[in-house]
Amino acid sequence: MTRLPQDPTLAADLARTIRDVADFPKPGIGFKDITPVLLDGALFRRTTDALAAAFRDAGVTHVLGIESRGFIFGAPVAQALGVGFVPLRKPGKLPHRRVTERYDLEYGSDALEVHSDAIGAGARALIIDDVLATGGTAAAAVRLVERCGAGLAGVGVVIDLGFLPWRERLKGCTVETLVSF
Ligand code: AMP
Repeated sequence: MTRLPQDPTLAADLARTIRDVADFPKPGIGFKDITPVLLDGALFRRTTDALAAAFRDAGVTHVLGIESRGFIFGAPVAQALGVGFVPLRKPGKLPHRRVTERYDLEYGSDALEVHSDAIGAGARALIIDDVLATGGTAAAAVRLVERCGAGLAGVGVVIDLGFLPWRERLKGCTVETLVSF
C-alpha cells in the first residue's frame, strides 16, 4: 500500500467530510457514511481522480465496482482511465450467464456475481469499493477475477479500517486506500 502524493490534503479533507454513524446498521458498528463526500462535487472528483491516478500505469483494462457504493466511485474511475466498467452484483440481479462467489459475514454469508462474458483472459481488472473492513467482500471479488481467468491490477478503496484484518485477506494484492481510520 502506498500513499498518493498528487493530492496531499485529500486524506485530511476526506477524514473531515466522511460522517461517522454509531450503531448502524446494528449495535457496535461504526458506519462510515460517504454521502457527504458525494455532496461536495470537487471532493468527489478529487476522490475518483486519486483512485484513477494510483492505477494509471497499472495496465487496467476494466474497472469492477462492488455493489453498490463501488458503482458510485468505480464508474468515474473507469471513465478517467478510459476503460470499461463491470458491475459486481449481489445475487439475483444480473440477467445473463454469471459466475458466483460466496463469502462469509460475521453472521451468515453473502455472494457477489459477475457476468461470465464480462472479463476473461487478457483482461486486467481494478476492483473499486468505498470501504475495506474485514476484506471479505474484496477478497471474494478477487476470486471472481481469478475464476474468470483475468489478471488483477489491484484493489482501490476510499476508506480502510486499519484495525480490521483486511490486509491478511488481500495478501499479495496491490491495495490503494485514500484515508485510514
Ligand atoms: P468487508 O467485507 O468486511 O471488508 O466489508 C466491506 C463492505 O461492507 C463494503 O462494501 C462496505 O461498503 C461495507 N462496510 C463494511 N464496514 C463498513 C463500515 N464500517 N462503514 C461503511 N460501510 C462498511
